[in-house]
Amino acid sequence: HETNSEGTAPAMAGAMSAEPIPQDKISREDLLQAIEQQQITLAYQPKINCRTSLLAGFEALARWNHPALGPVGPDRFIPLAEHYGLIDQLTESVMIQALRWLAHLPRSLDESVEYDYLRRRLREITLSINISASSLNNTDLFERMAEYCQSMGIHPERLIFELTESCAMEDPTSSLDILTRLRMKGFHLSIDDFGTGYSSMLQLARLPFSEIKIDKSFVMTAAASKESRTVIKTIIELGHGLGLYTSAEGIESDETLEYLRSIGCDLAQGYAIARPMAPEAVLQWLSGGRLSDESSRMKVLRSL
Ligand code: C2E
Ligand code: MG
Ligand code: MG
Ligand code: MG
Repeated sequence: HETNSEGTAPAMAGAMSAEPIPQDKISREDLLQAIEQQQITLAYQPKINCRTSLLAGFEALARWNHPALGPVGPDRFIPLAEHYGLIDQLTESVMIQALRWLAHLPRSLDESVEYDYLRRRLREITLSINISASSLNNTDLFERMAEYCQSMGIHPERLIFELTESCAMEDPTSSLDILTRLRMKGFHLSIDDFGTGYSSMLQLARLPFSEIKIDKSFVMTAAASKESRTVIKTIIELGHGLGLYTSAEGIESDETLEYLRSIGCDLAQGYAIARPMAPEAVLQWLSGGRLSDESSRMKVLRSL
């Protein structure tokens, strides 16, 4: 049957209309129901190690296929959830879904022997989850998160919480305290969309981040713009100087991937590698589907 680029079924209605959805059409009740009934699902986008091309992990990205309005993007419903005071509930639902998915991933591959290597790797890859500033203060949420991890047999070091630069820098004093406690539980922290906010370099150095993610606005324009390349190189140098992994999002061409590799970027994410995918599409991407012939399958196994 027909699927869109993420391998999900198209919405019954609304998907065809190019009209933007006015926010006032989405009520608090609507969104609450969507969260409670798990209408908010996740797409997963891989992140690879630039140097080895090995799969490093996935980022979970929230998706909402509204029954009447069609797909609503996270850039729209995340701010709405914050506005309606539903963000903690949404974050928890995302976390539980993502953890369950990660725990089951090695088992959901075909039973064929060739995948043993891949299955082993899937027990080690990381999972990145986006966290809103307001959820950061919810210590109970992260306490429960640590418990979920334990009950599902997932080491907390495999989870990376992505915080946007502005969110982490909002209140650096309380951030230091909260982020340090999260890091002490084992979770890793990443600064998302770096280069778009206003960071104090000193605060950045003091906060317990593991990764810095270069905003896609620079990466997407790297091939055409010398200024973007200068910004990217500077962020990589800054990140490495502070002992952080550097990651680039929004890589849309092999040329840009090659460029990032050549200047020492550690991790890469973007449409040139794979789009965010529904769980079934991830399995296809990992094991079959496009890999119907033996030679291409071997190529992917080598590259993973
Ligand atoms: P983000 O965390 O910076 O995620 C990267 C965005 O870039 C995603 O958009 C992804 O689909 C898109 N992207 C990835 N590769 C490429 C590429 O090569 N080219 C281009 N043009 N775009 C690419 P998406 O999924 O629409 O998410 C938008 C934002 O919504 C995310 O930005 C994140 O800030 C937020 N978000 C998504 N899911 C969640 C969630 O569960 N919780 C919270 N708090 N925020 C979320
Ligand atoms: Mg992110
Ligand atoms: Mg980002
Ligand atoms: Mg973003």
